[in-house]
Amino acid sequence: MLTVADVYAYVNSRAPFDTQMEFDNAGLLTGVMEQPVTGIHVALDCTEGVIAEAENLGANLILTHHPLMFHPRKRLTEEDAEGRLLCRLIRKRMALLAAHTNLDRAAGGINDVLAQVCGLQNIAGEAFVRVGDLPASMEATALQAYLSQRLGTAVRLMGPEGRTVRRLGVSSGAGGEFWSMAKAMGAEAFLSGELRHHEALDCVANGMIGLEGGHYATEAPGIFALAGALQTHLNAIQCNVCVSKSLIPGYQG
Ligand SMILES: [Zn+2]
Repeated sequence: MLTVADVYAYVNSRAPFDTQMEFDNAGLLTGVMEQPVTGIHVALDCTEGVIAEAENLGANLILTHHPLMFHPRKRLTEEDAEGRLLCRLIRKRMALLAAHTNLDRAAGGINDVLAQVCGLQNIAGEAFVRVGDLPASMEATALQAYLSQRLGTAVRLMGPEGRTVRRLGVSSGAGGEFWSMAKAMGAEAFLSGELRHHEALDCVANGMIGLEGGHYATEAPGIFALAGALQTHLNAIQCNVCVSKSLIPGYQG
């Protein structure tokens, strides 16, 4: 019988939990390691909708990228939205497992998959940044269109539109601060999920092109990859891994 501990061990083998950042709280957040798993539901975030989906599918393990309780709490009541989620998980005896910064940095993790989706070659990696060559040199506006098509979203461009770029750095999610690491690794342009105003200004002032693709579009491909690998791993014992509807582009609700 598959247990929460087995799934934890598999995720740990791909993205060791002890490689997470100090501020992070990836790992088992609710539930019991010894609990038998009836199904696994994969999502970017644990929301009321995701828990309802898991319930309807008979899954009792939710695997997300973003952890709950990212900000420490001193009480667990249903007076706030996150408290309601946690109480619901506990009442329904659902395990919540989060693979966050450990998955961002892992080989084959969120940033590696993002670099693949962007079609990069000769990839170099360090922590939360991947830098590689685009299939061809392109002007910034062409790069914007190329990445928008690759990521299935409207990528925002910051910097000189006519500048030619060959080497692109990427950092998923809220990785905007890593533009300087990408530059140090030879990137001429930098894509992140979120490039905050002053990060973008600094990035452009230092001769880079800034590109913002949104938190979802830069992280979802890596979550799909993990769900696929997990399903392949578990096929032999016929445990179902389902991907939440919330991970389908354009899904509202
Ligand atoms: Zn994120």
